Amino acid sequence: ILIVMMFNFSHKAYRPCWLDEKPFNASGPFALSADLVAKYGGVAPKMAEEAHLQVIDEVVQRALDEAKLTETDLSAVAVTIGPGLSLCLRVGVQKARKIAGRFCLPIVGIHHMEAHALVARLVDKNLQFPFLALLVSDVLGPGGHNLLILASDLGHYVQLGTTIDDAIGEAYDKIARWLGLDMRRAGPALEELAREGNDESIKFRVPMKQHKDCNFSYAGLKTQPFVQLMCLQIGFSDPDVPISSASCQDRTIRADIAASFQRVAVMHLEERCERAIEWALQIEPSIKSLVVSGGVASNQYLRIRLNQIVEQNGLRLVCPPPRLCTDNGVMIAWTGIEHFTRGRYDPPPLGDEPDDALKIVKSSPESNDQ
Ligand code: ATP
Ligand code: FE
Repeated sequence: ILIVMMFNFSHKAYRPCWLDEKPFNASGPFALSADLVAKYGGVAPKMAEEAHLQVIDEVVQRALDEAKLTETDLSAVAVTIGPGLSLCLRVGVQKARKIAGRFCLPIVGIHHMEAHALVARLVDKNLQFPFLALLVSDVLGPGGHNLLILASDLGHYVQLGTTIDDAIGEAYDKIARWLGLDMRRAGPALEELAREGNDESIKFRVPMKQHKDCNFSYAGLKTQPFVQLMCLQIGFSDPDVPISSASCQDRTIRADIAASFQRVAVMHLEERCERAIEWALQIEPSIKSLVVSGGVASNQYLRIRLNQIVEQNGLRLVCPPPRLCTDNGVMIAWTGIEHFTRGRYDPPPLGDEPDDALKIVKSSPESNDQ
């Protein structure tokens, strides 16, 4: 997670060089967090904090060097203030305050999920409020990051749906682990494997069919492929599962599980989006776009399926390029620009104030106008 990102939009050197589609290959300090997650199967807060402390100065310096800027060129400092692990957020906030204090720069506190949504306005200058946004990323447990929001204006978000248990990214990650895939790139690895499989070979259930709302549930779906794998491992074939006499080491079967899971996981999103579009257009007929962002939105299959739904409903899909869908500093900097240009920022920190910077919460897609 890149926590601090600075921006300068009046400087000549400012240009959207990150818009090219070349894949982002994590290296040096950037690779550290992916390696830790792969090694330990999750994030240990203390270890993550140490990793952040270890690399924060180098990451910021590298960003400045690559932009051919120094701190004196900056207009403000944007920093993620939540949601996330407070130990890690604090590392970023302290670094941001240090720079802002030293160079007398305003600070803009950014909500991570708002940044996932708003980065779409960087790549598509025609994207005006109001618009709908589906944010699909990670996080285990209720309130995980599977959000459908109506963005009426900057800082004004109505939550139409959220997950009642896990987010879709959590399901991708868990199933990738069971399928023995590379956990440094769990989602993309599962997507690749799914391309080899038959997505109708296993009939997983679409979650929450009977719930006529815009909420999500992925906890049940993520255990269904697990049951399937267990059945295969002990050589038992469930009557609902048209596969027998094979082991889960068999790549064809693992690909079928991946493809069948992915089809149903995305179908759940499609159903929820259709309902949200229908409802939102009744109260905001001027909505023209559905933004899909967050790590899972880099999935090509998901993009194709959602594009069909969105077009059928007379809207257009706005999906940032994959490297701006997964976590990135650009989305934090861009959301900083959005707020800063509307005068929404905090003054430069004075001297050694108590560490209350995490309280500078601005807008939250999860907590505003219900
Ligand atoms: P959050 O935004 O919820 O805090 P995060 O910030 O930790 O999550 P993101 O980069 O926003 O991370 O999303 C990561 C999730 O996206 C992971 O679950 C990852 O497996 C998933 N993901 C990334 N690429 C793909 C893909 N091609 N297909 C499916 N899932 C993907
Ligand atoms: Fe994220």
